[in-house]
Amino acid sequence: MLDQKQFYINGEWVNPAIDNDFPVINPSNELACATISLGSQADTDKAVAAAKQAFVTWSLSSKAERISLVENILQSYVKRLDDMANAISTEMGAPIDMAINAQASAGNQNIESFLKIARDFEFVRPLSDDTPNDRLIYDPIGVCGLITPWNWPVNQIVLKVIPALLGGNTMVLKPSEISPLSGNLFAEIMNDAGTPAGVFNLINGDGPGVGTQLSAHPDIQMISFTGSTRAGIAISKNAADTLKRVHLELGGKGANIIFADADEKAVKRGAMHCFNNTGQSCNAPTRMLVQREIYSQAVETAKAAAESCRVNLASKSGKHIGPLVSELQFNKVQDLIQKGISEGATLVAGGLGRPEGLNLGYFVKPTVFADVNNQMSIAREEIFGPVLSMIPFDTEEEAIEISNDTPYGLTNYVQSQDLDRRRRVCRRLQSGMVEMNGYFRAPISPFGGVKASGNGREGGVLGLEDFMEVKSVSGWS
Ligand code: NAD
Repeated sequence: MLDQKQFYINGEWVNPAIDNDFPVINPSNELACATISLGSQADTDKAVAAAKQAFVTWSLSSKAERISLVENILQSYVKRLDDMANAISTEMGAPIDMAINAQASAGNQNIESFLKIARDFEFVRPLSDDTPNDRLIYDPIGVCGLITPWNWPVNQIVLKVIPALLGGNTMVLKPSEISPLSGNLFAEIMNDAGTPAGVFNLINGDGPGVGTQLSAHPDIQMISFTGSTRAGIAISKNAADTLKRVHLELGGKGANIIFADADEKAVKRGAMHCFNNTGQSCNAPTRMLVQREIYSQAVETAKAAAESCRVNLASKSGKHIGPLVSELQFNKVQDLIQKGISEGATLVAGGLGRPEGLNLGYFVKPTVFADVNNQMSIAREEIFGPVLSMIPFDTEEEAIEISNDTPYGLTNYVQSQDLDRRRRVCRRLQSGMVEMNGYFRAPISPFGGVKASGNGREGGVLGLEDFMEVKSVSGWS
């Protein structure tokens, strides 16, 4: 059992002010694999004070100094890539091949992408061609509190830490208490890269403790949060008295609109995307809207896709999906599958209970419901499990209406060979992102939502700018 009780504050690993042990559970076998400590107000204050002190110098660092530090971080990260994949696979159940090729490698890919962006970024720039006396200066914001979830743990950490650093900010990171191993390893990487003391600090803790303390802290100027809509609301309220900037990346309930003229792989592709990461992605296309002419055929295809999707231990190599992250998530997903059945949807694949042969671990069956309407719980709630809800529609107008009839607005998907229709529909979808015909958005495109899915943008130029204030200056020349 790993002992990971220390916090990384002011360039050192330190003991928590008060012992408050918390087990890290391996979801493949339900056994504790590590012990962390949940921080207290004294730990939060210490980390924030270190970041505040370091801001005095780091905020004045040059672009070259910031880039050089991030280049060192990239080198240290790549050296620890296998360790990172193992940590993620153990703490949250991503199958090891997926942990290497997607979860851990998202870290170095994002660092590389931010490095490119920063090299071209003008921190001091003219306002316009005809205002020679004016400049825009991109200033750091201050001390940032970074609160991250467990589902893509290091991806979320990197999308916050790296632009915060490049923007000249200092920070306190609180990773999810459910997936702290990748966070602690990331702190080691930051240390190995020679990050100046106090610029980056890490404390473990839960939402009611460190999460709330960071949100309300008077010496923190910005909270960047990824997680549930529930916690996003609590953080916004806690942050209000100190008027700090709050950047939110929250949940989703993406619609995948499949028109009758969609390419033949669209249904299978959509189902497999929904099951990826065991359904634990905020941008998962969980509501499949299918035009009535092809609906029955689509249900058969999705059923076959679910039955071909293998489930197995996270430690095993291969293309299967792993367990859900925790007992809490397991029970929540079972409860929603039961609601789907009780509310009258047709269960065509999967269902309640564990897959055959997997009696231990938080494994669930890839599940498909047909004849779903958009008022059912399985169409409204973010399930965060491999559960696909298939909803028939007749017209384009109806598809748009159903897609937008949700509190969320993160990613929607459109499948059609008709270019005009794709463009028309995409413009009317209320979401921060739309992906069409199976094309992934470019790595430098901004990630984020509208409505109950949040407000900020991560990644790309906008993801860097979100960590800076713009100062408007006259009399420059
Ligand atoms: P969660 O909200 O329970 O926890 C996320 C983080 O917030 C954890 O570090 C947790 O300790 C902390 N936290 C919880 N309550 C808090 C509070 N009151 N104040 C401050 N911090 C608090 O979410 P989760 O279960 O870890 O993650 C899953 C959720 O994250 C899903 O809803 C998913 O859609 C969302 N998510 C969104 C994105 C995105 O970019 N939009 C990406 C990944 C995950």
